Amino acid sequence: MHVHTANPFGSRKPVLPGSAIGVLGSGQLGRMFAIAARRMGYRVHTLSPDEDTPTGQIADVEINAPYEDLDAVRKFASGVSVVTFEFENVPAVTAAAAERCAPVRPSGQVLHTAQHRLREKTFLSQSGLPVTPFRRVSNSADLTEAANQLGLPAILKTADFGYDGKGQFRIKSPDQFAAAWHAVGEREAVLEAFVDFDREISVVAARDIGGNFVHYGAIENHHRNGILDISIAPGRVPPAVTNDAVDLARTVLGKLEVVGVLCVEFFVCKDGALLINELAPRPHNSGHFTVDANITSQFEQQLRAVCLLPLGDVTQFRSAAMANLLGDLWNQGEPNWLAAAQIPDVKLHLYGKTEPRPGRKMGHLTALAATAEDALADVQRARNDLACKL
Ligand code: AMP
Repeated sequence: MHVHTANPFGSRKPVLPGSAIGVLGSGQLGRMFAIAARRMGYRVHTLSPDEDTPTGQIADVEINAPYEDLDAVRKFASGVSVVTFEFENVPAVTAAAAERCAPVRPSGQVLHTAQHRLREKTFLSQSGLPVTPFRRVSNSADLTEAANQLGLPAILKTADFGYDGKGQFRIKSPDQFAAAWHAVGEREAVLEAFVDFDREISVVAARDIGGNFVHYGAIENHHRNGILDISIAPGRVPPAVTNDAVDLARTVLGKLEVVGVLCVEFFVCKDGALLINELAPRPHNSGHFTVDANITSQFEQQLRAVCLLPLGDVTQFRSAAMANLLGDLWNQGEPNWLAAAQIPDVKLHLYGKTEPRPGRKMGHLTALAATAEDALADVQRARNDLACKL
């Protein structure tokens, strides 16, 4: 891994409460980070192309500029003690510009690897880590060749700027090649074998600058239309699977020299083998339960790591289940907040977004209970109740 020796901000001086922290990106991840940071007495500045954002509503300073406006990025980074990000599709030039003015943690190098599927998968397979079989596709002839090698069904995914199942096309038969190539915008892509998995899990973990590592165990994830729908913690997988997943996550964070939080998403195959699906170099939707269920949330952990404070205790008080609230829930009008508030162990989180578009993450619910099953039942009941009119 290339280390930025020229960076004059490689100092190991902790960034203490009272200092300003810069967040690139302004969505709900930045919002929950900002809540953790402000609680601990930090100031938060956020930069993104948008206005009145989930992060900006909590931050001390909201800067509205395109990520490509490098003058604005340098000015932003010069005004803070450390820069982190909540959105991994921040362009590499933006992170590089910020790195000239303040430490960026995790480094722009981690961002660069994780924001591009092909680079990410190449890094993982070259590191000897298990990944879904894949081929690079840069034209339609490559696609035919790759499909011959991997077999069908397979999933064609854009190499960059893909998230929540966007820019993906599931190919079932060769007559769909042209449609698939068109669907990913006829640009560099990755063809992945379709994995008939038993379930999906993730490990949200943090690493500090000294290499210390903490994690929140194996979280079980259920997706709907390619978007995370429900997370259950602890995940209902055998202890050996959890141990393997945590070991793989430890290796990934170590090899990337992450200083911050990173989530590893896995497919658990029917025989218990793990395949890494993707990496997110930041707190993750599947780790939102940690805000309510753990001594130290994933957001406080990111704050501690990027400020070079010791990592916090990750002990989970109770089993938890999280359900996302997408814009679709608003189809019949404002959700019935009162009904969901009837269940005393359910916590409501809303991100301050005013436009409830279908598929847009507007908030989430977390239920805490004695068992994962009870938490799951409560969170599902609460979400169903939100959709019921009084
Ligand atoms: P991604 O954005 O790549 O994480 O994909 C979103 C979701 O689509 C995953 O969490 C899976 O549920 C599903 N998916 C993606 N890739 C595959 C694959 N190769 N095989 C089976 N399901 C997949």
